[in-house]
Amino acid sequence: VIPKGDPIQIIDNLIKNNRIAIFSKTTCPFCMKVKKLFSSLNLEVAVIELDTREDGDDIQDALLQKTGQKTVPNVFVSGENVGGCDNTIAAHQNGRLEFLLNKSQAGPKTEIPDDVKYDYDLVVIGGGSGGLAASKEAALLGAKVAVCDFVVPTPIGTTWGLGGTCVNVGCIPKKLMHQAAILGQSVSDAKKFGWELPDTAKHNWHTMVEGIQAHIGSLNWGYRVALREKKVNYLNAFAEFVDPHTLKTTDKKKKETTITSKYILLATGGRPRYPDIPGAREFGITSDDIFSLPHHPGKTLLVGASYIALECAGFLAGIGVDSTVMVRSILLRGFDQQIAELIGSYMAKHGIRFQRGYVPIKLERIEEGSPGRIKVTSQNELGELMEEEYNTVLFAIGRDACTNNIGIEKANVMLNTRNGKVICDEKEQTNVPHIYAIGDILDGKLELTPVAIQAGRLLAKRLFGGGTLITDYVNVPTTVFTPLEYGSVGLSEEDAIAKYGANDIEVYHSFLTPLEVAIPKRDDNEGYAKLICVKSLNEKVVGFHILSPNAGEITQGFAIGLKLGATKADFDNLIGIHPTVAEVFTTLNTTKSSGADVLQKGC
Ligand code: FAD
Repeated sequence: VIPKGDPIQIIDNLIKNNRIAIFSKTTCPFCMKVKKLFSSLNLEVAVIELDTREDGDDIQDALLQKTGQKTVPNVFVSGENVGGCDNTIAAHQNGRLEFLLNKSQAGPKTEIPDDVKYDYDLVVIGGGSGGLAASKEAALLGAKVAVCDFVVPTPIGTTWGLGGTCVNVGCIPKKLMHQAAILGQSVSDAKKFGWELPDTAKHNWHTMVEGIQAHIGSLNWGYRVALREKKVNYLNAFAEFVDPHTLKTTDKKKKETTITSKYILLATGGRPRYPDIPGAREFGITSDDIFSLPHHPGKTLLVGASYIALECAGFLAGIGVDSTVMVRSILLRGFDQQIAELIGSYMAKHGIRFQRGYVPIKLERIEEGSPGRIKVTSQNELGELMEEEYNTVLFAIGRDACTNNIGIEKANVMLNTRNGKVICDEKEQTNVPHIYAIGDILDGKLELTPVAIQAGRLLAKRLFGGGTLITDYVNVPTTVFTPLEYGSVGLSEEDAIAKYGANDIEVYHSFLTPLEVAIPKRDDNEGYAKLICVKSLNEKVVGFHILSPNAGEITQGFAIGLKLGATKADFDNLIGIHPTVAEVFTTLNTTKSSGADVLQKGC
């Protein structure tokens, strides 16, 4: 029996003194389910039944402050917050629970003995966003570091230089092609502002690709120079484990070398997935190929509903490519669904065709050439078939973590069995104390360049510079660079409702029209802004969403507000910058629940 006292102290003591701590209510069916799960695993749990205590509500409020979760059960394993019933069951299924339980059994982390001689203090596998950041920081702090980076060519033979996904086949070329599309729109707007331009502005694919690839080349070179200057040994070779401290590296000429390291950092990123259908790898391409495609893609089918599928469709259509997106179910899974649908309808209005409810089942080459012609057979849920010809088929159906061919079993590193990602604690440490993981291969974390960079830098500082800061993965801002950009930070409306309950959520919103489109008379009220607030937390803003040009720039600034715990009143107190799109957030006064009209009229 735990006596009454400071609720925070009660919570902390229960978590500290017990491997498994559950905050529960006797009548809650989800709490029963969780307790049953642990009992079926023969694991002892410490439980506080909040509905049997006078101070139950105070503890529940303190739990909300501590974890952001109001509902029960609220489960902690080995000091880490696992979450509610669904999270706990998922953690059991994907191996995270086992990882956390083993962690506490192992006791305090053992120091790696200093008398063992290794070739390096740190070897990083993967020279992408995270790997480069970590290796440079570690070397600056005096560690002896090597980074292994090797690009396995795509099925059609595309390959690239040092720097990983972001610089070569991700953020950088994507944003530049997005810019090419925006310029096309600006050219047609310009005439309405008095610029006398030819009636048909033509876009040249080769000029764009050449310009972008030249820029990437200069970045690749810059990374090599930076590694050399910081005395990081760059090995252009594929690395795989021989044992937990030893790696075999194989270069392009198949030359093998063995190296040992005190610490090993996995930063191998992900690669696009192909569907398991005839012709996919032979005739299809992915985002790994599109940015350096040596010929105009022609009529293009983009398969998938991910941000990558929509962004590629957006910039292709923007430069005049006939673009179709084939989507099995919803758009932008994991993002706010109201905004996802607004993006879809904006894109459809701007000439992108959507085939919803279909998946491709076969690709056949019907004409050789660059780009040639491909027949795509697809099928819907009812089994109805559809056939159509395209010049290019781009798959953007997801990405797989690069962890399946690096001998990870020889190092005994635990992976999430469902997605092959590496399970780590909050310090990016795997179950093997000297092996760490960052970036896209990290289980349960966002796949974004700045996230990988931050994790890499802070980890290196902790390992070699006495740092104590750990990466804060909460309230990470992000932007989808569709024709109308979508910026967000915090929770989607769906996640906010799941976390706080529909009755505790207030959504303030407005459609918007940037002033710049008034003269060309386009996109009236196509933009949208909303703030998601929690009533019981003094209308703390837990979700920020904007659909507008330059949404990335807007969201980056406002994100600090959410990180500092801004409330709706703080947004109301802020004076706007006029005339901008972002000022809409200082004047949002219509709630979604009121059902009132939020179309913007006038200035
Ligand atoms: P990566 O950058 O993928 O680097 C991993 C490196 O390791 C690669 O070079 C790989 O070849 C190498 N490697 C793998 N296995 C081995 C091995 N065994 N031996 C040696 N080398 C190996 N993020 C954003 O923040 N903003 C965006 O706008 C954005 N747009 C994107 C657009 C696209 C089309 C894509 C695909 C991604 C985008 N991302 C974006 C995501 C971003 O690129 C990734 O989150 C980021 O690159 C992850 O960094 P990383 O260090 O984990 O891995």
